[in-house]
Amino acid sequence: MKRTALITGGSRGIGLGIAQQLAQRGFDLAINGVREKDAVADTITQLRSFGGDVIYCRADVGDATQRAAMLQQILDHYGTLHVLVNNAGVAPKERKDLLETTEESYDRLMDMNLKGAFFLTQAVAHVMIKQQEGCIINVSSISATIASVNRGEYCISKAGLSMMTQLFAVRLGEYGIPVYEVRPGIIATDMTAGVKEKYDQLISKGLLVQSRWGSPEDVGKAVAMLATGDLPYSTGQVIMIDGGLTIPRL
Ligand code: NAP
Repeated sequence: MKRTALITGGSRGIGLGIAQQLAQRGFDLAINGVREKDAVADTITQLRSFGGDVIYCRADVGDATQRAAMLQQILDHYGTLHVLVNNAGVAPKERKDLLETTEESYDRLMDMNLKGAFFLTQAVAHVMIKQQEGCIINVSSISATIASVNRGEYCISKAGLSMMTQLFAVRLGEYGIPVYEVRPGIIATDMTAGVKEKYDQLISKGLLVQSRWGSPEDVGKAVAMLATGDLPYSTGQVIMIDGGLTIPRL
């Protein structure tokens, strides 16, 4: 039987890197994003060229009604959902010092990065329990443990996602549904395009053990390993994709 995967924010960046790796491994895909269908038509065509079925689900994961409609669209089309990748996430529109963080930005990040992922996971968990099969992968960030005071609301949302991984891993363990966290470091995408020079400099000065930007493909390969069951006895664990950034060094 073909296996199906939903990748939130799968239309570009890390999510697209994940989608490409899963498509190469024979998954049928549901790609989620917020842009119009026309804007992602080429991306969907490219993903279909790997041979599987691909549908686009336009939905804001921070919105309960749109989340429910997206899951229904997937079940109407495929009838099943084997893998959920909670990848969609946003950075603050403006990096602001912790003492100046606005409630508006805090709420936006929590809704999108944490609440949306939590309630989507909850809804998908019911589907997976019924079909007695599934796997859930959350894309967090090194910001889950590294404090950046110019985007505290982002760090808090990712730290929450980390606990969410452990909670669902424990709750879904009895059903044989593993839940993992993939924690990227500095990855070249639209999200980091605005801080490219800053990170270029830090990397050239030895920030990383593996001295290069990470790619969406680096993250995609890790997610593919998890989604295909190649880390079967490690539910709830964190997989670091950070080029050694978080290794304490002296
Ligand atoms: P990106 O290039 O900005 O892409 C964001 C993706 O999320 C796009 O597909 C976008 O859809 C989608 N999206 C945005 N808002 C959404 C919403 N409300 N509902 C559904 N989808 C939405 O970001 P990225 O760098 O690939 O990041 C992906 C994930 O990795 C995020 O959770 C981010 O926090 C995390 N991460 C990134 C880095 C990094 O260095 N880049 C490092 C650590 C963690 P559209 O295409 O329709 O806009």
